[in-house]
Amino acid sequence: MAQQDTEQQAVAGGVLPVDDEGFVIDTEDTEEREAAYRARGTARPITVVGNPVLHRETKDVTVFDAELAELVDDMFASQRAAEGVGLAANQIGVDKKVFVYDCPDDEGVRHVGVVCNPVLDELPAERRVLDDSNEGCLSVPTAYAELARPDHAVVRGQDEKGNPIVVRGTGYFARCLQHETDHLYGYLYIDRLSKRERKEALRQMAEGTPRYETVPND
Ligand SMILES: [Zn+2]
Repeated sequence: MAQQDTEQQAVAGGVLPVDDEGFVIDTEDTEEREAAYRARGTARPITVVGNPVLHRETKDVTVFDAELAELVDDMFASQRAAEGVGLAANQIGVDKKVFVYDCPDDEGVRHVGVVCNPVLDELPAERRVLDDSNEGCLSVPTAYAELARPDHAVVRGQDEKGNPIVVRGTGYFARCLQHETDHLYGYLYIDRLSKRERKEALRQMAEGTPRYETVPND
């Protein structure tokens, strides 16, 4: 990946540049940025469906301090350890509205970033093109199901320093932005499936063995 003169700022502060339309540019220095977060962090076990922290709205982030920075570092470390493309704070048991992502879009371009207090834009009807690709979740290990979601997403929130940001995604990355935002409001993707599909996903989970450490439910 090409070195950019924004790299120092990005690595040191986690603050991303923006494009002409005001969207964050999260596709530059992805390898270096992700590695820097992860190197400072510690992987933590992943909470799974049934753990109450996953089924209620998380708390807004109001303080953008060193503790939040450490959480973000741990989230990147955990995401990598579990081979995920996105991770919400409640997936490592933390009741805060933060998610991280390291996700390719449908053009194979890698996006790396952090969003606090995310809110999805309502899409105008003409922009609502549904895509019914497969979806999975680290908190529903080894299960996958087709789920129709808009193929375009815009999320507004703040970066880990508290700066307002707007993230735009298409394809698989749009799916990720919607999936992670859902987590922070207490919803798993299986909550959007039919009863029968949800049951099937839980059956797949019961029969599989995750390749990463999970938090046992009581
Ligand atoms: Zn998930």
